[in-house]
Amino acid sequence: MSATTANESTSQSETAAEVVGRLRATFNTGVTRPLDWRVSQLQRLRALLVENEKELLEALWADLRKNAAEAKMQEIDLTVREIDETLANLESWLTPRPVEVPAYFGPATTAYTTYDPLGVVLVIAPWNYPLHLLIAPIIGALAAGNTVVAKPSEISVHTSAVASRLLRQYFDADVLAVVEGGAEETTALLAQRFDHIFYTGNGTVGRIVMAAAAKNLTPVTLELGGKSPVYVAPDADVDETAKRLAGVKFGNAGQQCIAPDYILADPATAAALVPALRAALEAEFSATPQTSADYGRIINERHFDRIAGLLESGRAAVGGQHDRDDLFIAPTVLTDVDPASPAMQEEIFGPVLVVVEVEDLDAAIAFINERDKPLALYAFTTSEATKSRLVNETSSGGVAWGQPAMQLLMPGLPFGGVGESGMGRYHGLYSFETFSHLKGVADVPLS
Ligand code: NAD
Repeated sequence: MSATTANESTSQSETAAEVVGRLRATFNTGVTRPLDWRVSQLQRLRALLVENEKELLEALWADLRKNAAEAKMQEIDLTVREIDETLANLESWLTPRPVEVPAYFGPATTAYTTYDPLGVVLVIAPWNYPLHLLIAPIIGALAAGNTVVAKPSEISVHTSAVASRLLRQYFDADVLAVVEGGAEETTALLAQRFDHIFYTGNGTVGRIVMAAAAKNLTPVTLELGGKSPVYVAPDADVDETAKRLAGVKFGNAGQQCIAPDYILADPATAAALVPALRAALEAEFSATPQTSADYGRIINERHFDRIAGLLESGRAAVGGQHDRDDLFIAPTVLTDVDPASPAMQEEIFGPVLVVVEVEDLDAAIAFINERDKPLALYAFTTSEATKSRLVNETSSGGVAWGQPAMQLLMPGLPFGGVGESGMGRYHGLYSFETFSHLKGVADVPLS
């Protein structure tokens, strides 16, 4: 596809009000409503990702030392799949759905539901998956027929710079505008009236976003984080569990919203798990992970210092080495951690996995329920009864048994948090619904 250059001249000095005003004028013409327009925007987004893969992967390496295979799979292929799924289903989603009419309204009366676009939406992205988490909400926003302001994270400097330039190159500035910057620029944006705000990041800023949105009665989706627990039952195969945990938790150096944060296991299972995790981590990243091309780095000094500080909360039974000049923190398993210590009070968001001993499943459930609702709950068990108790007796954004992160990767499942881990959901149909208004229409014929 040939890229449009209409957006390249978008000036950073344009005020937030002017940007939103331009996008609203576009929306009000009705141009974004037809299926064809939506399809062509999604194809642009797809082309942007596919045609610039190399440059995007280089930027992701520069920001987070994401290895090319992992970055391609998680930041590009996953996003392209989301576009393809949306393209395959959009016509069907847009088809009005008839609703059954009670007989007492007469035989000629009909009713249906139809999805309306909302208008101008704001997407605010974080730095940890700086491409996927910027583009994935935009897919839903465009599919639903909206115009978009995209605000990448200022922290992932390389990826955000490339993504911003490409979005300006591929999209008409009157359809999709990119505003770069940090708190100041975002605050200026939040003073405008949007029709939806989609924010991914931490809960402190989530509250700022929601308070600003409230002034205009703007609905929000908040994709936040939290401490996602993993229950390892006594019946779990410890070596296989350790292998799967090591493979997921330490990708992107643990800087994932859905990363397993701490393990709950009885003392015997916990004791067996620690050496199994050591072996699995060595197999994954070698005995010297600092030299492994597969192992990532912490985004910046501020986050490095925060995570290094968390290591003080317990004993590094595995790992623990760190090197500030290289922003390297080894994959670490922390034991003997007091539940009142920082590592158990705040989201780790780094390559540290805490092992907490609990007596049994009852105690694990109580431990989870005493804390904020997490974004994810994981368990390793062969017992359907255990799974059933966990899913029914706890609350979390999503759940995966046997393989962390599968609840995010599975097409057809909604993704989102609950309570402290966020509000709203997206992916596939759920993204389309997030950025649409489901309108009810009743039709009583005059004759
Ligand atoms: P971040 O620092 O990049 O901030 C996110 C966005 O908020 C950025 O675009 C930033 O410019 C903006 N921002 C920062 N301060 C602001 C302010 N005062 N006013 C308005 N906007 C402001 O990213 P982060 O918050 O460090 O991201 C990490 C957090 O995000 C973790 O808690 C993680 O769990 C969560 N997260 C959640 C998901 C999810 O899908 N649920 C995905 C990734 C990360």
